[in-house]
Amino acid sequence: MTAPQRIVIENCAIATVDAEETEYATGHVVIADQHIEAVGPGPAPADLPGVTRRVDGTGHLATPGLVNTHHHFYQWLTRGLAQDANLFDWLTALYPVWARIDEPMVHAAAQASLAMMARGGVTTAADHHYVFPRGAGDLLGAEIRAARETGLRFTATRGSMDLGESDGGLPPDFAVESTEEALRATEQAVREHHDPAPGSMLRVAVAPCSPFSVTTELMRESAALARRLGVRLHTHGSETVEEADFCRRRFGMGPTAYFESVGWLGEDVWMAHCVHMEDEDVAAFARTRTGVAHCPSSNARLAAGIARVPDLLAAGVPVGLGVDGTASNEAGELHTELRNALLVARLGPHREHALTARQALRLGTRGGAEVLGRDGEIGSLTPGRLADLVLWRIDGLGHSTIADPVAALVLGPPAPVALSLVNGVPVVEDGRLLTVDEDTVARAARTQARRLAEAAPA
Ligand SMILES: [Zn+2]
Repeated sequence: MTAPQRIVIENCAIATVDAEETEYATGHVVIADQHIEAVGPGPAPADLPGVTRRVDGTGHLATPGLVNTHHHFYQWLTRGLAQDANLFDWLTALYPVWARIDEPMVHAAAQASLAMMARGGVTTAADHHYVFPRGAGDLLGAEIRAARETGLRFTATRGSMDLGESDGGLPPDFAVESTEEALRATEQAVREHHDPAPGSMLRVAVAPCSPFSVTTELMRESAALARRLGVRLHTHGSETVEEADFCRRRFGMGPTAYFESVGWLGEDVWMAHCVHMEDEDVAAFARTRTGVAHCPSSNARLAAGIARVPDLLAAGVPVGLGVDGTASNEAGELHTELRNALLVARLGPHREHALTARQALRLGTRGGAEVLGRDGEIGSLTPGRLADLVLWRIDGLGHSTIADPVAALVLGPPAPVALSLVNGVPVVEDGRLLTVDEDTVARAARTQARRLAEAAPA
């Protein structure tokens, strides 16, 4: 055993987001190798051995790193299209373009998506990839490579679609795989990439796309596969009224009853959106501890509606935040979703009591960790957890007059990231990525977006 190397951050405000919601107006965090060793008020002890770096956090707020629970990285190449469409019209417009993606495109899009989120304080990302054109190369491998390059902790989900238009689904037949093909490739992805170890930088989950693009057989078999392999399950659910109508017509029941009927409620499942939920659906999620990835900007962009986040939280449902794909949330940032989650929730029936700034921060950190099955490892600044941490600058023009640091972060303009650590390793410093060159990533993404636009049908 070699002696631990320590990083000390002190003189900053701290929102630990631990079970007691402990905060310090001025405090310190000690990181030993990849773990948080100590968090407390005042400066750190002066005589700690092995300190390689001492950061003066005056004018800053330290929080757990943000956790993004739902995204589609490949959509970075198709932003700003179908601008005034609801989900089904938007999907119908975009499927033919997405069916032309290949490995270099997905790699460039994943790098850009990850870089954009990292620069805004995300330390753990999840991606839902469900478009696998024949002969397109190793698309999941390209995302995993990009996550390693950018230095973020990653949950890759192997998505799938097998219900084409001719069988009553929404996607065109050329955009779907066969049921067998999807299951085989999903199992292979888990066996090849999933690292179940504590502190893992890479997990894999099983993620058929949605009730209107996946057969009942694939839903059932995916759940059985994931449980056999010991990995988590992810999908889209209860996103729009059109989806609820589809479920009633095709299955004779609403989306939540359908998910329950195919074995898709459980503490090993997290679902994106969950906007159109009846009281009994909320109760079923709470009873089964099924998680929710709340995506407020995407829900607004596609006119999906306002998710019942206050009711989900009151019932005890684990809720995290998601950017969603950047074709329906062109900003692609998560720190701004803290604010959007709060604002959108207050437009709903609970009005000013819908969500507090601290609840919004919890959704983006600890809530996300729960939803990804990593509570206890990440999501709060607690000794023993992994050193995924963000130091936000809140003494600049945008924030200096907001005395409450958490209100500054959540209600104020996007706060600059002075430092972010993933597994104790600096990934962002003074708002710039240390791991990849932003301008190179931006150029590559533009090149690949042009390739895709040229390949797409007019
Ligand atoms: Zn999505």
